[in-house]
Amino acid sequence: MPERSKKPEKRRLSIGVSVLILIIAIVVSSLAFLLINQRRGSDFSYTLSGAVKLTYWEDAKGTPVILEKGWEFYPHRVLTPEMIHASRLENATERYPYYRNVQITTDGWIDMGDSAELYTFGKQVNKMEQYGIGTYRIEIILNENVDFVTINIPDIAQSAVIWVNGKAVRHYGTVSDNTSLYEPVQVCTDIQLEPASDGSIEIVIGCANYSSPYGGILCSPCVASTATIGTIEYSVRMYLTVLCAFWVFFLIGGHYISKTFVSQSKFYFFLLMFLGDIMYEMFSPMVTLLPGTWNMLIKITFLVLTNYFTFLFFFSLYPRGTSKLFDKLRFFEISFFSILTVCYLMTFWCFPSVLYLDSSVAANLIFVIITNLYNIFRVCHMTRRFNHGKYLYASSVAMTTAIHLSVFFRRQYVVYISLHAFLLLFLAVGFTLYFVMDYVKTYEMLADNNRNLSSAVEERTKYISRVNQELLDNHQKLVDNEEARKKMMSNVSHDLRTPITAIRGYVELMLNAKEPLSREQEVQYLNNMHTRSVQMEQLISDLVQLTRMESENDTLELMPVSIVEMVHDLFQLYKAECEGTGKVITFHAPQDDDLLIDGDPKKLLRVFENIIVNAMKYTREDGKIDIICHRYEDPAMLGGNAVEVCIKDNGVGIPENEVPYVFDRFYRAENSGINKTGSGLGLSIVKSVIDRHGGKIWVESEEGKGSEFHIVLKASEYSFDEEAEDE
Ligand code: ADP
Repeated sequence: MPERSKKPEKRRLSIGVSVLILIIAIVVSSLAFLLINQRRGSDFSYTLSGAVKLTYWEDAKGTPVILEKGWEFYPHRVLTPEMIHASRLENATERYPYYRNVQITTDGWIDMGDSAELYTFGKQVNKMEQYGIGTYRIEIILNENVDFVTINIPDIAQSAVIWVNGKAVRHYGTVSDNTSLYEPVQVCTDIQLEPASDGSIEIVIGCANYSSPYGGILCSPCVASTATIGTIEYSVRMYLTVLCAFWVFFLIGGHYISKTFVSQSKFYFFLLMFLGDIMYEMFSPMVTLLPGTWNMLIKITFLVLTNYFTFLFFFSLYPRGTSKLFDKLRFFEISFFSILTVCYLMTFWCFPSVLYLDSSVAANLIFVIITNLYNIFRVCHMTRRFNHGKYLYASSVAMTTAIHLSVFFRRQYVVYISLHAFLLLFLAVGFTLYFVMDYVKTYEMLADNNRNLSSAVEERTKYISRVNQELLDNHQKLVDNEEARKKMMSNVSHDLRTPITAIRGYVELMLNAKEPLSREQEVQYLNNMHTRSVQMEQLISDLVQLTRMESENDTLELMPVSIVEMVHDLFQLYKAECEGTGKVITFHAPQDDDLLIDGDPKKLLRVFENIIVNAMKYTREDGKIDIICHRYEDPAMLGGNAVEVCIKDNGVGIPENEVPYVFDRFYRAENSGINKTGSGLGLSIVKSVIDRHGGKIWVESEEGKGSEFHIVLKASEYSFDEEAEDE
């Protein structure tokens, strides 16, 4: 029992540790996530004069750093820095209209805001899709105390060329005014900035995007000191490391633990899907190999299929054929959803232009929301019936829904490492935790079973060895009994044959006498025959009594017996017998105590008589026999409430080495004398009667000096005092 009480504590501990790990993992990854978000250029704000103010980065005096000129945007053109410089000269042949102090937002390409003004045009525009191509320019003058050396542009879609201080430092795809030459790629970039000798840095970015409604710089750039960017880089790596570590942990743990799962294949399927999601998330720029629309089609197909397989996965979690209705519904659901998925994909593949409609994005979202909500509903509904793994299924369906939604909500210009990846991390942690807990639970259960089993085996072994010992003992007893039986048979036959032979001898003597026998002779022969037949009778009666006592039918007829009275009657009888012989018999008993016991009077009478007769038999002519009755108050003997009868004689005694055997059947001591008749059964009957009364009998004897037989019986609860009171 104490082991059992420990168990819940242990489990609580393991759950506690797991929860702690989860919390730490979430805190660490959230921290990393927050740091990553600093890569966003949200630190840019705009002063009234239109300059860009960096609120996050302060100079040595704690003053926010101000970039005197903000971003400029030249629509419709990819301009090199030279072209821009030339257009700004007084005698320029061509001037390019541009917006000043353009704010790059997460909501589109550009936001003119209050401070924006079109240098030449008179109207505001704010969507790149209206231009297809455009050029950004920013000029930074390094403040003495500020170390502006790195710019991070998390995302540029879909092709770009970047110049720093007039030098082209990066080319992503082909940026061209000519649509046929346009080549899209996904761009994320960190650029080390080297200031010119006067401390100025000029960044010019030419972008092109003809296929997507979202293009250009998709996330406001972050300008920071190299050290700060380093910290951010570090946190990104840390985040990815945590993600990968959990992923590996999850994979290895899942592999081993899933061996015990019934649905191992399901586990691997889900794993594969999960892996695909991660691959998509991490290597998205690498898999966008095909030009614009093809990429979009492949991506949307991947996402829709992932959604479809997730749907099937959650379907497959529950056993088939549990209810007819459920099976029918299942068939209907799968068919319906498969048709819907095919229609959905066909629409996109047949009419790719639909991809770019805002309404398509909304439709995608609705599709994902509905199917995932349906998954949640089904899992909740089914786990009520199939309880196993309900938390795993429920949490995984919730997480998958979140992931799918994040994929569709996913705007690369929202965050650099998207919400999607964060949720994947969360799912990995959740799964890891689940498997750890499940493993701990299974392990504890096994250990418990093992403990129970070994204690059961131990108990069983003990029981078997006990039974075995009993069998061995019984076997020994049977062997002994058989031995005793053989001995008894030979004794009985011998003891019966002896008197019969003697009687036959006398009869033959009398029959074959040639002369008539004298009266004395006749009397002597008849006397001898009588003695022998008495001997036989005694033996037979002893045998009968012994057999009866050993049979189960012989029950004790218990009643209150006064030992004093019973033994005194016997004393009177044998005192008379002693008269005329040299033997003296005495009797001692308390005057005021009857020494009551609960016993069978007939059997007890036989006991005392037997011992008195033995005492008479084994004493010489001048024998002295003392009978002493008294209370026996030694607490070690029958609880201290006992009665003792002691019968002493000064006869032949019993040789020391034979004392232990006198209570055995047919045992007669060497010195018992040939002329003393006896079967050797008397004392074994006596012992058997005393044992059955719960009493004790023993003998103290010295050869040649005499013997002392002690019989102790439990005294009756009905005491002498009570008896007196009753009267
Ligand atoms: P038996 O019929 O031979 O008397 P018992 O069973 O009564 O058989 O006694 C067994 C043996 O114990 C006797 O044969 C005798 O040797 C010994 N024995 C019994 N009582 C006495 C006694 N009072 N003094 C000496 N020996 C005794």
